[in-house]
Amino acid sequence: MSDLNKDNKRIPAICGGSPVRSKKLYYSHQSINEKDIQAVVDVLKSDYLTTGPAITEMERKLCELTGAKYAVAISNDTAALHVACMAAGVGKGDEIITTPITFAASANCSLYCGGRPVFADIDPETYQIDPDEIEKKITDRTKAVIPVDYTGQTPDLARIREICDRHGLVMIEDAAHSIGTKYNGEHIGRIADMTTFSFHAVKTITGGEGGAIVTDSKELYDKLLLYRAHGITRDVSKMKNTPDGPWYYEQVALSTNYRITDMQAALISSQLDRLSEFSERRTKIRDKYNEAFSKMPELFVQKETKGCESTRHLYILRIVPEKLRIGRKEFFEALGAENIVCNVHYIPTYYFPYYQEMGYKKGLCPNAEKLYDEMITIPLYSGMSDSDADDVIEAVTRIVEYYRK
Ligand SMILES: *Cc1c(COP(=O)(O)O)cnc(C)c1O
Repeated sequence: MSDLNKDNKRIPAICGGSPVRSKKLYYSHQSINEKDIQAVVDVLKSDYLTTGPAITEMERKLCELTGAKYAVAISNDTAALHVACMAAGVGKGDEIITTPITFAASANCSLYCGGRPVFADIDPETYQIDPDEIEKKITDRTKAVIPVDYTGQTPDLARIREICDRHGLVMIEDAAHSIGTKYNGEHIGRIADMTTFSFHAVKTITGGEGGAIVTDSKELYDKLLLYRAHGITRDVSKMKNTPDGPWYYEQVALSTNYRITDMQAALISSQLDRLSEFSERRTKIRDKYNEAFSKMPELFVQKETKGCESTRHLYILRIVPEKLRIGRKEFFEALGAENIVCNVHYIPTYYFPYYQEMGYKKGLCPNAEKLYDEMITIPLYSGMSDSDADDVIEAVTRIVEYYRK
């Protein structure tokens, strides 16, 4: 009874009540089963540790999943975005439009190629890059648009595709969050010119580290292969000189080593077999959260994009500051005291000193900045039980009820 205050409300742990959980629950955790482990062990016992059959198999599975003609496995999504920008021909002075609410890599890839990221604001309800804002930012220097499938749902991809076609821009979709997501009934991967994935440990499917790019274009595919490994080709038809002999290869462009190992590729392939199991679980937890939080006016529930059936990667709890006596930071700390370990995705990219020193100013994207002030990433991963999700709901409820105005 000591856990109740005079209004019969439970006291949050941060104010001296007992925490909802005794064991910490993290915002994300990988799910590795015996089959996944065996897949890696099998590679270790085989002849190839890199550039072997596990890579080919991973690429085949990604083509099968997305329906895309070509897939290129690569060391991580940061590398994928870099080679995609190289293949798109991004060069000095080119402008590339993306969202500020993403991991820094979505904008950094433009800088690697001498280009300049241009930030377009988000839709305040779906949190996705807003096509109207993209159009406003287009100039005669614009080369590409990099929409991000933030949280695992997509922006309005049909409109972004139409805008890119009308202005002759390359569309590179950063799908780091959205493996398993469908748009207008089909798995994403064929709308953008290139779609990139991440298989980092916190993502829906993991290889520890890992990435991939899918495309329907043979021309882009050839470039992606070249830039994945040093700009070196072994394809005689692409060489400038006559081969000296069977050992001969040529470097025809400058890149670096972005290869992935067969151990990682085997793990990713094995995890891809479990995608529908992961999607189902993530969707169930999202629905449970949505149902509970939509009843509380102190919270705003992220809206789904029309036509998108998402495999949710991140769940964003968004507070309505006018209705609470505490702000995001205090709410975050209160959840921590309940042993719910949260995170924030993301700090707007142009807030970072590196970007500020290049001249980007705060105030650039008001919707993104407002979201950043109000959001907390709460636990969502396929290994979570219903009771784990109930604990999160219970912790959030306690804090909301205690601090509501
Ligand atoms: C994780 C992530 C990346 C980077 O992926 P890595 O595989 O870690 O390089 C890029 N963009 C977004 C949106 C991400 O979430």
